[in-house]
Amino acid sequence: MPPVILFAARPERWTQYEAPLRAALTRAGLGDATLTTEAPPQTVDYIVYAPNGPISDFTPFTRAKAVLNLWAGVEDVVGNQTLTMPLARMVDFGLTEGMMEWVVGHTLRHHLGMDAHIHGQDGQWRAGIVPPLARDRTVAVLGLGELGRACATALAALNFRTHGWARSAKEIGGVTTHHGADGMNDILKLAEIIILLLPDTPATRNILNAETLARLPRGAVIINPGRGPLIDDDALLAALDSGQIGHATLDVFRIEPLPADHPFWAHPNVTVTPHIASETRAASAAEVIVENIRRGEGGEPFLHLVDRSLGY
Ligand code: NAP
Repeated sequence: MPPVILFAARPERWTQYEAPLRAALTRAGLGDATLTTEAPPQTVDYIVYAPNGPISDFTPFTRAKAVLNLWAGVEDVVGNQTLTMPLARMVDFGLTEGMMEWVVGHTLRHHLGMDAHIHGQDGQWRAGIVPPLARDRTVAVLGLGELGRACATALAALNFRTHGWARSAKEIGGVTTHHGADGMNDILKLAEIIILLLPDTPATRNILNAETLARLPRGAVIINPGRGPLIDDDALLAALDSGQIGHATLDVFRIEPLPADHPFWAHPNVTVTPHIASETRAASAAEVIVENIRRGEGGEPFLHLVDRSLGY
């Protein structure tokens, strides 16, 4: 029987994804699959899922072989007790390259002090602002998964003194890696620019708080394209006001869209971007989704499975 694939994300996603998914299914020899936004739950073999879509109770999907998340982050679905089938998340070269470019761009902005010239178009000749070379700047990436590893590697290739931190030990060329609580202590002492690419889990929430922010070098810059709850907002605002933190570039927030009256919007040393660090692009993401369906149909193990006990 050809598989039934339920696309359970918001309608605008269907508009983006329908054609790339159908094309990828045909290329994978699954052109006879049923790809639909509506099907009786008990007939569905695969659920293509995104947060804010129509499904919150997976119980009726009695024969579903997998839930295939369109997003890299799974914090909105991983704790759903009705989800008992395998859960795969999005790992896609487009997402990885997009994040690498965004992180490198924002790191270079702060490293080079670009704002001094961009915002200073007022007739004053501001010569004499000489940034250190990247080889004399220490940056750190928290989280060395699909995205963090790529970002750390790119920063190391630009000659930054690059450190990285993860739950488990890692070896990454050009990057000094750390793990565990001791590793975090080392990172906090050193990082002039710190980039957060951790998932949102009970173990990572508020990882940057009053105590850890105080241990960073004075004037350190924070770049957060990971998840909003990684940072204690009030502690960050206090650290920005005191000058302990020089600038925060934030792409993700506890509440999104960031409410118009949130102090981050008005703070002179905060840059808010609207969760655009890296988009899942339909053309490449469709291939990832279909590869997992092909594997499911062929009895092969799924790729990019989430470890429910770890929450990512
Ligand atoms: P990933 O491959 O699952 O990597 C997560 C990394 O975090 C791993 O290195 C993991 O360590 C580490 N980690 C997890 N818990 C930890 C802990 N308690 N202590 C220390 N390290 C810990 O995830 P990814 O694909 O790189 O994505 C990372 C996050 O980026 C996503 O969860 C999502 O929140 C965010 N994201 C944001 C955007 C955006 O546009 N802003 C786009 C995509 C993704 P191990 O390697 O030891 O397991």
